[in-house]
Amino acid sequence: MSEHIPVQQLPHQPRTHKPTPAERGGKIHTRSFSGIFRRLRMTIAGALALLFFGTAWINWDGHQAVLWDLAERKFYVFGTTFLPEDFLLLAFVMSISAFLLLAVTVVAGRVWCGYACPQSTWTWAFMWMEKITEGDSYQRVKLDAAPWSLDKLFRRSSKHALWILASLATGIAFMGYFMPVRTLVSDLASAQLEINYSFWVFFIAAMTYLNAGWLREKVCTHMCPYARFQSVMFDKDTLIIGYDTQRGESRGSRRKDEDYQAKGLGDCIDCHLCVQVCPTGIDIRNGLQMDCIGCAACVDACDSVMDKMGYARGLVSYTSERQLESSPAQRKSTKPGIRWRTSLVAYGVAIVALLAILAISLQAREQMALSAYRDRSVLRINSLGEPVNVYRLKLTNKTQQTQTYQLSLESDSSLYLTKTYQLTLIAGERVELPVAVALKHNDPIHNTGGHIDFRFHMSNINQPEQTIYQSASFLYRGK
Ligand code: SF4
Ligand code: SF4
Repeated sequence: MSEHIPVQQLPHQPRTHKPTPAERGGKIHTRSFSGIFRRLRMTIAGALALLFFGTAWINWDGHQAVLWDLAERKFYVFGTTFLPEDFLLLAFVMSISAFLLLAVTVVAGRVWCGYACPQSTWTWAFMWMEKITEGDSYQRVKLDAAPWSLDKLFRRSSKHALWILASLATGIAFMGYFMPVRTLVSDLASAQLEINYSFWVFFIAAMTYLNAGWLREKVCTHMCPYARFQSVMFDKDTLIIGYDTQRGESRGSRRKDEDYQAKGLGDCIDCHLCVQVCPTGIDIRNGLQMDCIGCAACVDACDSVMDKMGYARGLVSYTSERQLESSPAQRKSTKPGIRWRTSLVAYGVAIVALLAILAISLQAREQMALSAYRDRSVLRINSLGEPVNVYRLKLTNKTQQTQTYQLSLESDSSLYLTKTYQLTLIAGERVELPVAVALKHNDPIHNTGGHIDFRFHMSNINQPEQTIYQSASFLYRGK
């Protein structure tokens, strides 16, 4: 009679480490996956792409609504013209954006990277083009390994043709903010586009093709400065994508109807789906990593696995370090949210202060600009024997409409303009004009030499409240 060997329940042994696509190196074939966060990402990406490709085609007051006219050095934004001297305002806008990004990072981690960054948005779009031409990840792996055939050639060339078209559209749309987009497109179509603009269109297209088609996650992990410094701003309450080790470990495969807890297993079935869908090729179960761009693709993937297994969702989820470290009983009270911390208050104060300064500056911003320089080489005497000074006045119409201006002079002495100066300037036009000022012969100060301070007034004829002043000095010799 053979001896009976009793079956023993062995403690769970973790599998040997399976290298992630990032660790293996080479091309990462991201598996496409649907879910709540993918839909959210696609909606935001679609809206941003529409904004980018569409805004340049909007006209406002007979002018392109948003245009940085490099040739004329004017920046048009929805009815307002900014000139190089207004660039301080641009500095304020950029500082506010930077502080906003810092504040968002402290609270919500890398939501910018996952949902709004152009690099991520274009990469997702290029990955979609790759999928419709070459198939999903496993088909692409097979295609890579397959010898060249007509099918492979057709699929590859279709993919690259789509990528090139999308890149060219990006280059044109981008340069359409620096040169009137309609002119740009018609000049390009008729091969009459200036060489410098042509260079930039093709340069931006080449960068898009390279970054979104080939470099992809390498831009985020090796080249992006924001990825480097944002981890410094993270704290225990910052929103991150995290794997719940307490719930998931020990990981291991099992049958759906099996009592896996009796085998010492946690909720992670070790299916690797979260790794296959990750665009940066990492395993979120290894903890928070700098390579994670916070796209939540792994959350969608894992939630679908949990649904299939009949387990609660959220094994991989939006969470915080504090929550991941807390015990199941404390989980509710440690939920991530906006918790006030010193850095957030500091960024908030900076944003409010900069917004206030920007609002005041915009309110005080003149609708015209005037400058006056005395022509030092011209100190004349007119036919009446009166001293005459000549000034170079530079006047700019900063509005989007044609305006007519009248020049006058304010002085305690008897200075006067030798003729009437009335000018009509089209939207955004800047003119330079010589202006002669004379001192009346019968003014007693005429007997001594010296200088007289006075002011030029430039008024908008139709809106007299729009008046601008410019101080100047009149020089004369005594009799
Ligand atoms: S780990 Fe998850 S959230 Fe992070 S990049 Fe990969 S898929 Fe996106
Ligand atoms: S998708 Fe979920 S269950 Fe599957 S390996 Fe990742 S964490 Fe585990």
